[in-house]
Amino acid sequence: SPKQSEDLRSPICCIMGHVDTGKTKLLDCIRGTNVQEGEAGGITQQIGATYFPAANIRERTKELKADATLKVPGLLVIDTPGHESFTNLRSRGSGLCDIAILVVDIMHGLEPQTIESLNLLKMRKTEFIIALNKVDRLYDWKARRNSPIGMTLKKQTKDVLSEFNRRVTHVITQFKEQGLNTELYYKNKEMGETFSIVPTSAVTGEGIPDLLLLLVQWTQKTMVEKLTFSDEVQCTVLEVKVIEGLGTTIDVVLVNGVLHEGDQIVGPIVTSIRALLTPHPMKEIRVKGAYMQHKEIKAAQGIKIAAQGLEHAIAGTSIYVVGPDDDLEDIKEAAKEDMQSVMSRIDKSGEGVYVQASTLGSLEALLEFLKTPEVNIPVSGIGLGPVHKKDVMKASVMLEKKNEYATILAFDVKVTPEARELADELGVRIFIADIIYHLFDQFKAYIDGLKE
Ligand code: GDP
Ligand code: MG
Repeated sequence: SPKQSEDLRSPICCIMGHVDTGKTKLLDCIRGTNVQEGEAGGITQQIGATYFPAANIRERTKELKADATLKVPGLLVIDTPGHESFTNLRSRGSGLCDIAILVVDIMHGLEPQTIESLNLLKMRKTEFIIALNKVDRLYDWKARRNSPIGMTLKKQTKDVLSEFNRRVTHVITQFKEQGLNTELYYKNKEMGETFSIVPTSAVTGEGIPDLLLLLVQWTQKTMVEKLTFSDEVQCTVLEVKVIEGLGTTIDVVLVNGVLHEGDQIVGPIVTSIRALLTPHPMKEIRVKGAYMQHKEIKAAQGIKIAAQGLEHAIAGTSIYVVGPDDDLEDIKEAAKEDMQSVMSRIDKSGEGVYVQASTLGSLEALLEFLKTPEVNIPVSGIGLGPVHKKDVMKASVMLEKKNEYATILAFDVKVTPEARELADELGVRIFIADIIYHLFDQFKAYIDGLKE
């Protein structure tokens, strides 16, 4: 019924996959073509995300002659970060997404980060669709711009088709080796059991209509409950950032509920929302501080929040809102438990180094890496955010037990001057890097140095 459709929120989608498979280009392609053709149709660039309204998706998929009504208001696609060596956003992103696009280069098949992404998706039980990208690179491909894939395949020669089929079959076999059934989406009779592959080109736009329609239809068909708008605020911190004139702000994805200016929010700290901000619609004009201010914002959206005390916020955690009937102490307790339950899922052994990271996602990724047989560095303690004196104290416990483990591996975080001073005084080493492998290299060099 139309009543129900009004109550659905936009599905949240993230794009994952190996570097250079075309993640950024795909997003640009979905965003860009419409702008060039003067039918931007309300596409808005949000904080850490892009919003595609249903009307726009309808327009782009009209050649597919899909009769199904679009019940969701639109699609919110989380932008992937530029640097993706090991990445925290990917693990963060997949955690809050309703559905993901896993991008695979048709010329390369499955690559190491494809498999890493797959494992994250499996771990979080996130649904996904495979975009088998760069079909235009098949030898002698005849492009038909922005065409549905079926129509463009009809125009190809027998040789191109046989090469296409050979490569698709190979990728299906590779997924099978990862324990996954996959099939071209238009042949897929058992979606849910078998994952769908949509051949695409981010350069010619071919297959993009299919991808958009499948994303929207699949989510609104199978996730009605999850997508039914709820008043209960569900909000995840993507990034903590200092912005000139605003101080420390947090970039969040509001998954559900409504946020208002002045709302009392609880994360690691209790504060009140001073400003709810989104970028101006004219996205080309990147004027510093040129944000639009809102009295209230309804999910799903990407938002920047300004408030006092946000320097204590932690990316990857949830923000709670204190309602008129809520007890602040209860909510503080819930926020604390939420943090602790995530932290306790990360296993630690008795003797080992101390690990500090900027986000829960990156902390998980780092611990995973340290556990691999080639690396095999035990961990005794973990922390989030800047390295403080208390972290140095905890790491110093190892001085007596196993001196070389009196070390902090700090990933993508700052070290406070007091912590640095205390570390020097006690003899605790702190290695800092923003690429996970570099932490390993530094620690290994140190251990090798001890042996000489
Ligand atoms: P990302 O690392 O996954 O974000 O990949 P990018 O979007 O940066 O793309 C990597 C390179 O592949 C760039 O040079 C793109 O222009 C190119 N590329 C991306 N998608 C396609 C495609 O569909 N066809 C072709 N021919 N090139 C593509
Ligand atoms: Mg990219």
